[in-house]
Amino acid sequence: MNRSPLHEMDARALVHQQTDLDDHQRNGAVLIDRGEGVRVWDVEGREYIEAMAGLWSASLGFSEPRLAQAAYDQMMKLPFYHTFFGKGHGPAVELADKLLAVAPVPMGRVLFQCSGSEANDTAIKLAWYYNVIRGKPEKRKIIGRVRGYHGNTVASVSLSGQPHMYAGFNLPLPGFLHADNPNYYRFAEAGESEEAFSKRMAANLEALILAEGPETIAAMFVEPVQGGGGAITPPAGYFEAIQPVLKRHDILLVADEVICGFGRTGNYWGSQTYGIKPDMLACAKQLSASYQPISALMISEEIFDMLVEGSRRNGSFGHGYTYGGHPVACAVALETLKIYEERDIVDHVREVSPTFLAELEACRDHPLVGDVRGVGLIAGAELMADKASKTPFPPERKAGPMVEKACLENGLIVRAIGDRIAFTPPLIISDKEIVELFRRFRIGLDTAYERMTASQAA
Ligand code: PLP
Repeated sequence: MNRSPLHEMDARALVHQQTDLDDHQRNGAVLIDRGEGVRVWDVEGREYIEAMAGLWSASLGFSEPRLAQAAYDQMMKLPFYHTFFGKGHGPAVELADKLLAVAPVPMGRVLFQCSGSEANDTAIKLAWYYNVIRGKPEKRKIIGRVRGYHGNTVASVSLSGQPHMYAGFNLPLPGFLHADNPNYYRFAEAGESEEAFSKRMAANLEALILAEGPETIAAMFVEPVQGGGGAITPPAGYFEAIQPVLKRHDILLVADEVICGFGRTGNYWGSQTYGIKPDMLACAKQLSASYQPISALMISEEIFDMLVEGSRRNGSFGHGYTYGGHPVACAVALETLKIYEERDIVDHVREVSPTFLAELEACRDHPLVGDVRGVGLIAGAELMADKASKTPFPPERKAGPMVEKACLENGLIVRAIGDRIAFTPPLIISDKEIVELFRRFRIGLDTAYERMTASQAA
């Protein structure tokens, strides 16, 4: 492969994240140079529609000048201060206040971190702390779900249900349990309705809790739509079925809204779309349109009361990150939320979502596409070797990566998660851009299909 000096430097210097490093050493990386609206250009000048908004995250696209200005203004005024030892600053206070005002259920307080992983890690620590202070120190185990994605710290990766992220790391840690993956298309029994499937998921969850001992379980984490699992929307009745189980056994519910928060599902929060009533809520990514690294964890008043009680007993609250609530990140997040309000981003998502879902639905007739599902501006398309008999491709066929590559060659960035293709374009995408996105996707599908049939024939 003919590589530019920057590509050579990249292969020599940088370890890419969540990347096949052997492949990277041989084939190099796509290095992105600039962005405008929903499009990005690589260093060789090729243009792409960014149908993943980077990492489900650049909600306002790649060229919002107001966010650059907000960062500049804050840097000129107070480029850094922290929130340790009783100190703080206006942007962190105002952002916390704003988040409490827009929370899907009444929340008590807000803690800031720099990433979704750290928000979930913090939530795990607080679930432990809460139970220690209220006299139930043995209530410690944490439930995630198979194919759930909650981050990469040692604890948040253990909470995630992604075997490829455990491999070689000797993870997950003990004390992390995984409930069923609620992928109706893949795991429903013949003739089972979505509601019946959801009830079965809830019954299995309760069986897991009873087998482990409810007195040993602190919290369950859920993504409203499972992102890293393949953009899997929950089946009808799922959250209605599982929440009473958790209540019955005094188990906290944490909504991981790192992807779904701020309009992605057609409401401000995924929790509103699916009637989730969390005790803690983690958000990040679209909080700052991803222009700055920042995450937030909202906690209920009841949990906050235990933190205060903990300080009465132990002295200071022994937790914090140097850059948690960084003033520049907070200022950019505040400006992001202001833009969402001014432009009524949720309303915009509702306006363009029918085009998005209709274009997606139209892909169902492609020989590679077994199923499509989405909500708002998040969707997944499941590839199948034989859709009539619902036979998946063997993993070694790498059907998903083949489609992802063919799309890339045709000016479209999507993400293959196994054989599910995920779409989460910037929230500002227009109807016209959605139509173009799916035109390119069709070409990608056709190209991959031709290659697959040709290699099978050979
Ligand atoms: N939670 C969810 C639902 C995510 O999708 C992600 C990342 O994609 C994370 C947590 C981790 O966030 P970060 O990569 O900012 O640590």
